[in-house]
Amino acid sequence: MDEMIEFRHISKIYQGQAAVNDLNLTIDAGELFVLVGPSGSGKTTALKLINRLVEPTDGDTYVRGTRAIDYKLEDLRGGIGYVLQNSALFPNMTIFQNAGIQLEASGVALADRQTRVNELLDRVGLDHTNYAQRMPNELSGGEQQRVGIVRALAAKPDIILMDEPFSALDPLSRRSLQDLVLELHADLGTTILFVTHDMGEALRLGNRIGVMYDGVLQQVGSPQEITTHPANELVETLFSERRIALIQDVLDAGFGQAITMPATMTLMPTDSVATLSEALLTHDTVTVADVSLTTADLLRFVARG
Ligand code: ADP
Ligand code: MG
Repeated sequence: MDEMIEFRHISKIYQGQAAVNDLNLTIDAGELFVLVGPSGSGKTTALKLINRLVEPTDGDTYVRGTRAIDYKLEDLRGGIGYVLQNSALFPNMTIFQNAGIQLEASGVALADRQTRVNELLDRVGLDHTNYAQRMPNELSGGEQQRVGIVRALAAKPDIILMDEPFSALDPLSRRSLQDLVLELHADLGTTILFVTHDMGEALRLGNRIGVMYDGVLQQVGSPQEITTHPANELVETLFSERRIALIQDVLDAGFGQAITMPATMTLMPTDSVATLSEALLTHDTVTVADVSLTTADLLRFVARG
């Protein structure tokens, strides 16, 4: 079964105003899908329509092919990990207790909880021999978000919803947690729906990106499609400041490889990054002076912190 999450003509109206307006979107098993848009565009509401923290005014959400409304609430939520901006760890419980709270609630024995939580703590870079017995206030914000991720993963959900999980962190922590999400996604193959208002973060993480504005899904596409072929002016404006740079800026940022053989397409350092992305739609490599640039270079440049 391919479709993990599907929104079919979903709307949520609050006091006559649509927070989410006729949303149609399918997210496949194993995808890392990013929903991006400014504050108030309906991202959180869309996420909560999946785990039924919000019920729709119209339409249906399907999870693994079954209407969300046809699940028992605990079964629905038990199969979905949820990570928020503030992971809200219980201050009077250890990291181990916090991370294993769902497992404990579903009756998993202590020894099994320890095995699972310790393995995950190690996996997210929190050596369990050092961290398991600490209290939340002894951890940095970034470390607390790592515990939030462990807690979400502990019960082995096949879907993880992440709502601006790194928005409150400093750029360095944010970056290393983004790397962690990419690694975990590659390792576990879990379906991840990641919400952010940060365009750079969206471009860095998403295989596919959905752009929300005013409750309406404006465009769905790859990072490259969204930046080079925005569906409308709204999308273009949201991403535009990322495209006006020059190729020289890409080179100055250290991207690209010294070439031994020129590619078939050659551009000047004074050409724009937009021109470079157009060229990379049809060429694997573009040569600028004595450097070769690929789509991977471009995306890393566009998505840099
Ligand atoms: P985002 O997560 O993109 O910032 P939200 O989904 O939180 O957007 O909100 C979308 C719109 O719906 C906003 O205008 C917000 O004020 C409104 N909204 C969200 N939740 C509620 C609620 N419980 N009651 C009334 N209005 C709400
Ligand atoms: Mg939100």
